[in-house]
Amino acid sequence: MQTTKTILMFSVFSGTFYPLPENDIEVVNVGHLPLDKAPKNSCNKCYGRGYTTRDTQNLTYNPCACVLKNLNLKLLKKIEDKRSKLS
Ligand SMILES: [Zn+2]
Repeated sequence: MQTTKTILMFSVFSGTFYPLPENDIEVVNVGHLPLDKAPKNSCNKCYGRGYTTRDTQNLTYNPCACVLKNLNLKLLKKIEDKRSKLS
């Protein structure tokens, strides 16, 4: 039986986390960040929310440093490779 790995994603548009099957990673749009692990509630900047401030001009949430530190760079590169092929 094939098991599908689930990736934790952070959306800068909603400021929320959601699980995504790894197979769907290639259809992900800009502003959705794959993470290795969830931010900790003990983070003294975001308290586990994953963002610090809201960009009122772009209507996006600014990811916390702890989110950026836990980015899954391998998957992020996959998303970007896919995107550059489409453009
Ligand atoms: Zn944080």
